[in-house]
Amino acid sequence: MGTLKRTKISDILSQPVIGEQVNIKGWVRTFRSNRFIAINDGSTINNLQAVVDFENFDEALLRRINTGACVSVIGKLVESQGKGQQVEVVVDELDVIGDADAEKYPLQPKKHSLEFLREKAHLRVRTSTFGAIYRIRHAMIFAVHKFFTEKGFYNVHTPIITGSDAEGAGEMFRVTTLDPTNPPKTEEGEVNYKEDFFGKETNLTVSGQLEVETAALALGEVYTFGPTFRAENSNTSRHLAEFWMIEPEMAFYNINDNMDLAEEFVKYLAKYALENCKEDLDFLNKRGIDEDKQKPQNERNELSLLERLEFVANNEFVRITYTEAIDILKNSKPNKKKKFQYLIEDWGADLQSEHERFLVEKHFKKPVILYNYPKNIKAFYMRANDDDKTVAAMDVLFPGIGEIIGGSQREERYDVLKARVDEMGIPEEDLWWYLELRKYGSAPHSGFGLGFERWMQFVTGMTNIRDVIPFPRTPDNAEF
Ligand code: ATP
Ligand code: MN
Repeated sequence: MGTLKRTKISDILSQPVIGEQVNIKGWVRTFRSNRFIAINDGSTINNLQAVVDFENFDEALLRRINTGACVSVIGKLVESQGKGQQVEVVVDELDVIGDADAEKYPLQPKKHSLEFLREKAHLRVRTSTFGAIYRIRHAMIFAVHKFFTEKGFYNVHTPIITGSDAEGAGEMFRVTTLDPTNPPKTEEGEVNYKEDFFGKETNLTVSGQLEVETAALALGEVYTFGPTFRAENSNTSRHLAEFWMIEPEMAFYNINDNMDLAEEFVKYLAKYALENCKEDLDFLNKRGIDEDKQKPQNERNELSLLERLEFVANNEFVRITYTEAIDILKNSKPNKKKKFQYLIEDWGADLQSEHERFLVEKHFKKPVILYNYPKNIKAFYMRANDDDKTVAAMDVLFPGIGEIIGGSQREERYDVLKARVDEMGIPEEDLWWYLELRKYGSAPHSGFGLGFERWMQFVTGMTNIRDVIPFPRTPDNAEF
């Protein structure tokens, strides 16, 4: 094998130099007529076609060119004779780097179901669909950091193991080094966590918000982007036990500033994807249109994936209060005809995904931001409004998904927050430091959380959240 340096297929295709000698390394997608190898190296969704003159190569070598095998080819870049590609490589040297048994390789060159591919999560990234999703995921991570950096925000790492249980009682994963079969006990016969690794009960975090607030009240505008864990036993297409969340937190922002930022942020991400992920999005767009054709008319998307992204990027979101939303829902057709699983009767009801989606998909046909929710269905730290019934919370609702962002203005008044903490029976020793922020130089501040995988669902059109994270963690599933 020669010593020519490897070139990525994306570089070759973006600026092909006809007549140049190139070395490409990648995985075989197909090998047709003992002559045409479609090679993909992950740098782009597009394959490069390598043409072999079979008379020049050992039959034994050619028999090893199977779908899934890893190969290296050296050859001359020429204009393609065939349809479907502009250039191809006429192979001089051919090497198999890693064999793949044609009989056993799970991914044959045909369409596999997403359910099947979930069981092959170690290989599914080699399909066009998942290659596109992984690349877009990377672009979106980068765009998140770019957006906030351009606005002068600082990225802050918040802890993954947390000692404060205030937020997600009952939904947390315990972190312990105690022997599960024989834990130390207190005199009362309960597990003695004083003897545990941290000398207290600890869990995996459900949100970095409480900790990132400390940084907002010093650095001004900050955000955290990290893994979050929820032991909610809900097997839905929108919930993971382990997911990633982006949580900006801003001093001196009220709830309106917060909504403005959330809207600007997701519009920026949509535009970034449209401008920077064109080929992958074109592929997923076509995939979505094909999927829709298989569905009954009333379940089809009215807009294609690209149209949905354009729509979000270029249209103002609707903003209404919770109270207005309840009025709309109460008088809606599905409520009157008892089509909702949870009927809306009274002010104060928690909204379910079916209600959120009705507002977005049927009523307004636009992303909707709901704000000023009843305090009883929201977290203790949200700022009380003057009506004494609602808090300055806001949720951003998206088509096909429902809630994609949840946020609020935070209660910055010590007395009000302390009273609320007591009222809800939250032990003060869990929150002393959080309360103390309100004693020393407190200031109005706000923030929100965008579930990164929910966003990834929107930007790829994938309907199941298990398909937008490389290795999904869900109830009864932690393979890989
Ligand atoms: P939902 O009602 O949909 O379960 P939530 O009210 O529990 O959401 P928050 O606690 O406000 O959500 O979390 C902020 C954001 O994190 C949500 O808007 C959503 O985008 C995302 N999110 C929440 N739970 C999950 C989960 N289990 N898997 C993936 N993303 C999630
Ligand atoms: Mn939840």
